[in-house]
Amino acid sequence: METQKCSLCRKEMNCSEEGCAIVKHLCFECYQQHEEISDAELDKMHVEAPSAEARQKMVDSMVEEVFPSVWDERKEELKELSKKELAKFMFSLGAQVMSESLMDEEEGDEEEDDGEEDN
Ligand SMILES: [Zn+2]
Ligand SMILES: [Zn+2]
Repeated sequence: METQKCSLCRKEMNCSEEGCAIVKHLCFECYQQHEEISDAELDKMHVEAPSAEARQKMVDSMVEEVFPSVWDERKEELKELSKKELAKFMFSLGAQVMSESLMDEEEGDEEEDDGEEDN
């Protein structure tokens, strides 16, 4: 792990590559704030991987956005869940939303993943 400086805010950030030759770096905060940066530009930059904290924030805000509608749809089912189960559900929902947004880039490759449940 190397420390590089973000080209926009000059904040120190982590670069995952040892002896990195890429000149432009972008910290995760700038990455989120500057939506106008094009993909072509991002291609030539190293974007900082989000910290666990930043990732949690993303999941939280996504759950907040998505949860009300899910709550309406699945109220009966969700009412039965304990707080712990609910937290787990929300987490998996967040993970699902996240992986869906990641998969937007590679369309049409859907995998069904039905884990077996023993009751
Ligand atoms: Zn920055
Ligand atoms: Zn780098």
